[in-house]
Amino acid sequence: MHFITLPLVSSRIHHARLLSRRTLARRTEEFVLGTEEPELTFRPGQFISVAVGTDAQANPILRSYSIASPPDRRGEIVLILRMVEGGVGTAFFDRLQPGDRLRFTGPMGFFVNELAHPGDVVYAATGTGIAPILPMAQEAAARAETGRILLEWGLRDEQDIFWQRELEALQRQSPRVRVRLFLSRPSAGWPGLRGHITGPILEELPRLSQPTFYLCGNGRMVEELKAALQARGVHRKRQIRTEVFFD
Ligand SMILES: Cc1cc2nc3c(=O)[nH]c(=O)nc-3n(C[C@H](O)[C@H](O)[C@H](O)COP(=O)(O)OP(=O)(O)OC[C@H]3O[C@@H](n4cnc5c(N)ncnc54)[C@H](O)[C@@H]3O)c2cc1C
Repeated sequence: MHFITLPLVSSRIHHARLLSRRTLARRTEEFVLGTEEPELTFRPGQFISVAVGTDAQANPILRSYSIASPPDRRGEIVLILRMVEGGVGTAFFDRLQPGDRLRFTGPMGFFVNELAHPGDVVYAATGTGIAPILPMAQEAAARAETGRILLEWGLRDEQDIFWQRELEALQRQSPRVRVRLFLSRPSAGWPGLRGHITGPILEELPRLSQPTFYLCGNGRMVEELKAALQARGVHRKRQIRTEVFFD
C-alpha cells in the first residue's frame, strides 16, 4: 500500500511569478501566481507567507495570504487581497507586474477541513476571509459524509461583493449547501440580507446537527462568534476552527 503524507507546515522557500491581476471589488484584488512547481500541493484552507520587503535591519517582512484556489489547479496559486491603505504587503503587491518574481514559504496552516465531519458544517467569513473558505466549502460539498454545509459571508456594502458566480456554483454543487450574504451597511435599495453574520448563525444553532464551525476574517467577528458559540455549549476544541486575518 502507498501512503502519501502531506506536510501541514513547510518552511521551504518557493518562487512564483505573477501571471495576472484583476480587480474583483472595491479595494479587493485577485493575484494569480505561477508557482514554477506543478508538484506543490496543499489542502484547501492553507496559506503562504510571502516576503513583501525588508525592514531597517534587512530582515524580511512577511505577510500571510490564504490560497483562494483549489489544489487541482496545478502550478497556480490564486490570492485575494484586501488592499489596505498604507499597508506594506499591499504596496508590494500593488507594484508587482506580470512576470515579476516573488518568494514565499508554505503552503502551511492547520485551518483545513477535518478529514471527516460528524455532522453539519458552518463556514463564517468576513471580507477576504472568504478566500480560504470557498475552496474548503467546495471540498466539503464533494464529500458524502458531511451533513448540511452553511456558508455565511459578511461584507460592508454592495461595492465589496465579488465571487457571486463562484458562490452560485457552490450552491448548485449539492442540495446540502446553503450560501447567504449579509451586508452591514447596504444602500437603501439592497434586496438581500442585512446586518452582521453572528446573530443569524446563533439563531441557526438549535437546528444544526453535531456542527463543526470554521470562522475566518476579522478578529472581532471571530472572537465574538467563538465566545457566543461556546456560551451556548459548542465545544471550542472539537467544534470550532478559526483563522484571524487582522485584529
Ligand atoms: C493566516 C493568515 C491568512 C491571511 N490571508 C489573507 C488573505 O487571503 N487576504 C487578505 O487580504 N489578507 C489576508 N491576511 C491578512 C494579511 O496577512 C495582511 O495582514 C493584510 O493583507 C494587511 O497587510 P499589509 O502589509 O498590506 O498591511 P499592514 O502594513 O500589515 O497593516 C496596515 C493596517 O491595516 C490593518 N488591516 C490589515 N488587514 C486589514 C483588512 N483586511 N481590512 C482592514 N484593515 C486591515 C492592520 O490592522 C493595520 O493597522 C491573512 C493573515 C493571516 C494571519
